[in-house]
Amino acid sequence: MDWREKAICLGADPDLFFPIGSSSSSPTLMQIDEAKAVCRRCPVAEHCLEWAIENDPVEGIWGGTTEQERRAMRRRLVHQSQNATARAA
Ligand code: SF4
Repeated sequence: MDWREKAICLGADPDLFFPIGSSSSSPTLMQIDEAKAVCRRCPVAEHCLEWAIENDPVEGIWGGTTEQERRAMRRRLVHQSQNATARAA
């Protein structure tokens, strides 16, 4: 079974996970918080987040993170990987 079949957001409004407008505006921040609240209850959030990081760039809220947060996570992962490679050399 694909992890997507267990996604709790299958029954939610898809627009909730794709906020539009400035990421610093109150309505957008409230929408992001609401979407993240759904993700916190999702049994496949870890798979979802991994997928979104691997398929970067992906718009919207995935695995309880925004695109900007995933970009930062991806940068940290690349940095850690480079450090590990340098230590092994
Ligand atoms: S973590 Fe969020 S976006 Fe991902 S499948 Fe679950 S509810 Fe949907």
